[in-house]
Amino acid sequence: MISFESICARDILPEGEQIPAHILPIYATSTFLYGTAENAMEVFKGNRQAYLYSRWANPTIDAVEEKIAALETYGLTDANGNPLEAKALIFSSGMAAISALFLSNLKPGEAVVTSGNIYGTTTELLQTSLAELGMKAVFTDLTDMEQLEDILKSTSGAKMIYIESPSNPTIQCYDIEAIATIGRKYGCKIAVDNTFASPYLQQPFRFGADFVVHSTTKYLNGHGTAISGIYIGTDIPFIQKKAWRMRKLYGGNSNAFDAWLLNNGIKTLPLRMEKHCSNAKEIANWLNTHPAIAHVNYNGLETHEGYAITKKQMRLPGGMISFELKAGFDAGVKMMNNIRFCSLTSTLGTTDTLITHPASMTHINVSKEQRLDSGITDGLIRMAVGLESVEDIIADLEQSIAG
Ligand SMILES: *Cc1c(COP(=O)(O)O)cnc(C)c1O
Repeated sequence: MISFESICARDILPEGEQIPAHILPIYATSTFLYGTAENAMEVFKGNRQAYLYSRWANPTIDAVEEKIAALETYGLTDANGNPLEAKALIFSSGMAAISALFLSNLKPGEAVVTSGNIYGTTTELLQTSLAELGMKAVFTDLTDMEQLEDILKSTSGAKMIYIESPSNPTIQCYDIEAIATIGRKYGCKIAVDNTFASPYLQQPFRFGADFVVHSTTKYLNGHGTAISGIYIGTDIPFIQKKAWRMRKLYGGNSNAFDAWLLNNGIKTLPLRMEKHCSNAKEIANWLNTHPAIAHVNYNGLETHEGYAITKKQMRLPGGMISFELKAGFDAGVKMMNNIRFCSLTSTLGTTDTLITHPASMTHINVSKEQRLDSGITDGLIRMAVGLESVEDIIADLEQSIAG
């Protein structure tokens, strides 16, 4: 078996290609030629596999799905000791992948159990669209195993536990293995949003997850050039039939160009993640001694409540940091106006460092009570640490905090 880094660096090329391209080609084509009537008959009957239409499958997209499935299962074995296999489907966005995950697993009357601090749009999806379809969402503290067990006992139709780890805004980590062990006892499937970690830092299948989803828009693409998502599962027939049918019928397919950008990004994933993590560590240590800062949320600090879990299930603590300015809301606004080097925007996983003040930006329309409930305090600053020299990033933090 070749190494994780080698899987990232080398292209998977479509089989049977006549022109010996070295790099994965972009198959910008909506349909594929049937050849003969006999061939078409066999393909439509399902007796022969072939490309027909790019909403169903596309060779560029297939190659990237195969690569990400290989990364998420790298080095893992199944119950019989054989290499663990998974099937992945790329979608038009992280949200399309997450919607397909819920829609393919839950029926009306059934419930998903999750935590209150997952990605805001995922919460909205559960509370509006899926609620209208009769699916329930129960929010709990997934660090509290007794409470989780009580909820699983008392919730009728609980079919899935949905974990996002690490998650916003306090860079909270959840013990996937412990949650999966309890969840399985109550017949739940375990799904993990692995966006903040990437498969280089964390492989949820190692800890008993059934499904992994990503907003590949973030670290996997790595350059902020395209929106896409992925839905991966170890039950291959389920993904090939039920999850694939979701994509085919609801039309949440991605396209060859975005998949190709994603493929390009993955080639340097290990290198980038190492640098995101080493920069984040230095910055967190620097922030931790700064007199204007009340506390730093970075799961690589021994004082962080998720430190032990992070050590257990992640290779490195990741590139996300948040911290609390002692002087609160106004200090946050001032600091943002003084930023010169970092980019004032709210995604993550790009090569540059991104910084936001959620209370005055992404969460300005959320009531203060609800905002505080999800850990977004007045002086909280969120950083997605980039790949620049760490001295440049710290210099900008120093002058913008001083200002
Ligand atoms: C961005 C993000 C999503 C949504 O992904 P899109 O690609 O924007 O649709 C879901 N989960 C997490 C953790 C994210 O950061």
